[in-house]
Amino acid sequence: MKRLVCANWKMYKVKSDVKSFFERWERYEMIDKEIVFFPQFPLLEFVKSFLTKGEKLGGQNCSDKKEGAFTGEVSPYLLKDCGCDYVLIGHSERRHIFLEKNEIMGGKILNAINAGLKPLYCVGEKLEEREAGKTIEVIFNQLDALKGLENVEFDIAYEPVWAIGTGKVAKKEDASFVHTKIKEFLSKNDFKKEIRVLYGGSVKKENARELLSADNIDGLLVGGASLDPEEFYRIATSI
Ligand code: PEP
Repeated sequence: MKRLVCANWKMYKVKSDVKSFFERWERYEMIDKEIVFFPQFPLLEFVKSFLTKGEKLGGQNCSDKKEGAFTGEVSPYLLKDCGCDYVLIGHSERRHIFLEKNEIMGGKILNAINAGLKPLYCVGEKLEEREAGKTIEVIFNQLDALKGLENVEFDIAYEPVWAIGTGKVAKKEDASFVHTKIKEFLSKNDFKKEIRVLYGGSVKKENARELLSADNIDGLLVGGASLDPEEFYRIATSI
């Protein structure tokens, strides 16, 4: 199973930034890893034009509907049409800033799969939930959205909310513990496909190698540090 290293560009970059990113992005053969870029929607086809083998494209979100009168939403069918292979679902900024409910996540995942995309389903606890000893309970509730999807292909990103964009990275042991629990949940509930579990939250070139050295951390979802080509390259090639 190849490791997956993802760049979530959030609501950053215009076309000229993308151009200068790829002018400085070192090309190398992705023999042992998949790299996925998640830019803003209007940049998808532009970013795609710079990608080479082993580098893939993903949307940052998608609707749970195929099409219709849903102003401002994006269909996974259009993402596929624009060259995406992946889509983020349930990113913490969608859950906590835009108040997307856990109940709609299963529908989004299924819709994305039907459109031919591979979802990267994000889960993670808030600081107060961790401090109250509820981390695993919260994660398992979020994983409940996957019920009925035991036969489909997707990946998971464990992203503790307190670590996203804060500079506070989870310790390798803490991340690894949650990854083990997620993998236990998947095998107990009879998920059939190989599912990678990525870590995300303040990943930098200084901590990427340590995190990836855990044998149950199957890749990284990188936000802020992926905006810079040299830094992201160092992360992607850290192991
Ligand atoms: C993210 O956007 O998923 C993320 C983990 O952000 P950052 O790396 O900036 O914490």
